[in-house]
Amino acid sequence: MNESIAQNLLGFKSHLPEEVTLVAVSKTKPVSDLMKAYDSGQRIFGENKVQEMTSKWEVMPKDIQWHMIGHLQTNKVKYIASFVGLIHSLDRLKLAKEINRQGERHRKIIDCLVQIKIAKEEEKYGFSIQEAFEFLSDLNRNPLPYVRIRGVMGMATFTADQQQIKDEFALLEDFYLKHQKTFGFEVLSMGMSGDYTLALDHGSNMIRVGSAIFGSRTSH
Ligand SMILES: *Cc1c(COP(=O)(O)O)cnc(C)c1O
Repeated sequence: MNESIAQNLLGFKSHLPEEVTLVAVSKTKPVSDLMKAYDSGQRIFGENKVQEMTSKWEVMPKDIQWHMIGHLQTNKVKYIASFVGLIHSLDRLKLAKEINRQGERHRKIIDCLVQIKIAKEEEKYGFSIQEAFEFLSDLNRNPLPYVRIRGVMGMATFTADQQQIKDEFALLEDFYLKHQKTFGFEVLSMGMSGDYTLALDHGSNMIRVGSAIFGSRTSH
């Protein structure tokens, strides 16, 4: 049902505020599906696995901006450093140092978002609010010249409880607004297919949407 990819995408874009960036999350989907979105004008794609992102990058048009949205192993940064557009999942100092190292090798400043744990469920990755503040303060004092922090990213709990999702988004929105000036934030990445309208209500300016564009996935 490839025709619906174009329709889904255009439908989506038509009701998104202009200042909101849509990341089309294409993980697990074949290049032919991504090309349907590309041909409808989409230029930003999100992937959560290094290998998959790299092999898609190799065969797809070079004006695509590739966003890494999944957990990033330190030893894999080298495979994406030369072409990645934005890393949403900066969640530890060791990773920041490796991104800096690879950025220096390629003479390329790499844009990153600090991933913050806002969900109540057992979430594996992301700083707590307090840890994020300390990490960012430390970076302000001791900058990593090839790492540019553009903002923050978070994921709400996967639940039908709308109030809980709102509370979690509100937490990240507060953090973003409170420290926007100090840390130079411009990007608040939150909201997926099931909860992006709530995220937009809480000031998100970057949403990561997969299944609502490409259809459901059989695996993550
Ligand atoms: C898979 C994924 C998304 C998109 O999820 P959908 O529910 O398909 O929109 C967004 N963000 C992250 C971090 C993801 O892993």
